Amino acid sequence: EHYLKQIEEQKQLNVFLDVYETEALAKADQLQMKLKDGKPLGKLFGLVIGIKDVLVHQNHEVRSASEILKGFESQFTGTAVQRLLDEDAIIIGAQNCDEFAMGSSNENSAFGPTLNAADHSRVPGGSSGASAVAVQAGLCMASLGTDTGGSVRQPAAFCGVVGIKPTYSRVSRYGLIAFASSFDCIGIFSNNIEDNARILEVIAGYDEYDSTVSTEEVPDYASNLHINKKLKIAYVKETIENEALNSEIKEATISKLEWLKKEGHQVEEVTFPHLDYVLPTYYILTTAEASTNLSRFDGVRYGYRAPEAHNMESMYKLSRSQGFGEEVKRRIMLGTFVLSASYFDAYYTKAQKVRRIIRDETREMLSEYDFIIMPTTPTTAFQLGTNRDNPAEMYLEDIFTVQANVSGIPAISIPNGVDAQNLPIGLQIMTDVFKEIELYAFADYLM
Ligand code: GLN
Repeated sequence: EHYLKQIEEQKQLNVFLDVYETEALAKADQLQMKLKDGKPLGKLFGLVIGIKDVLVHQNHEVRSASEILKGFESQFTGTAVQRLLDEDAIIIGAQNCDEFAMGSSNENSAFGPTLNAADHSRVPGGSSGASAVAVQAGLCMASLGTDTGGSVRQPAAFCGVVGIKPTYSRVSRYGLIAFASSFDCIGIFSNNIEDNARILEVIAGYDEYDSTVSTEEVPDYASNLHINKKLKIAYVKETIENEALNSEIKEATISKLEWLKKEGHQVEEVTFPHLDYVLPTYYILTTAEASTNLSRFDGVRYGYRAPEAHNMESMYKLSRSQGFGEEVKRRIMLGTFVLSASYFDAYYTKAQKVRRIIRDETREMLSEYDFIIMPTTPTTAFQLGTNRDNPAEMYLEDIFTVQANVSGIPAISIPNGVDAQNLPIGLQIMTDVFKEIELYAFADYLM
């Protein structure tokens, strides 16, 4: 009831596309009975959580914040969401986002932008912007978002909350509407590390419905939040000295590194000259994957069909032209171009090779250091409308976050103070694959 009231009172933030009021209250009653009857309680007993509008949930509408899925209801529940429910969490509703998770500001939603609760004239980041605001504004205790190139960490940084992107394959993607399948990761927003760790414990692990999910055992993340050794930490010269980096974020990052040195940890500068290639690689490969993934939305099987369609071809063309927003169309066109016969080798194949180089160099760094630290974003939350008409500027927002997705490694963003305008600053920590247990412990130590 408390959270439903908060959602109602802060409606102007435009966080929820659906609120499951009746269902959430019924589940709360059910849980109360369970408690009274002395039955065993789930690991997430009573946790009130929201889910990004790209995660399917049986008999509930899901839209990917797009017109093209208008009226579509899922026939099944995705694995991560099902696991939350099985452990007695209460799902309170579906959260706004950028259409098909493409964007860095939540302004690409067909349902209007979400506002940053710290300053309503600013964006919350994206694409899981509303999932971050939900936690920031106290509309629920935690949220599930997705991170293909930074969509959990960047909004977490802009909203002053914790956001993790786990190792690729750590969490099943079954029931996640695909954007770029070899990058997509379900991630978690929370106020603190412990909640985050408990939720990952529940949603991670083998799943027979996703052939890419890892069989690696899921450790008890939340009970191991301690650091008892001196660590080796790297920071990347090209990020700290990046000309796009705002000076207050730079200072906040440096002062964290100084503090770590004082605590006796080994902190060293490393160079990663390929930083400039990370964004182009990401945008070539993700648009290629998106163009094929989104071909299923054809006016036949899901959601929207143009009413004036008069034959099959016009049904495809009109439904897609009317149903998809501008950014999604731009990416489908880019992706189709890089996959076309005459350009495939020049773009797609080359980007795959560069991806391998970036991944190998990143993992080599992580074989020498426990963690890599960098700012999560080059700027703090920007004003609504700033980058809306300039996609290339918008893509630059992801400069520090995409390395983790290109490499498949886990990364977390934690709050690192505020700037002079009281806007949250994020600090990003990356580590090697399947080392979430160490990542959480170190993040907790830094908070
Ligand atoms: N901002 C990035 C993009 O637009 C990341 C999106 C994401 O992680 N889903 O592609």
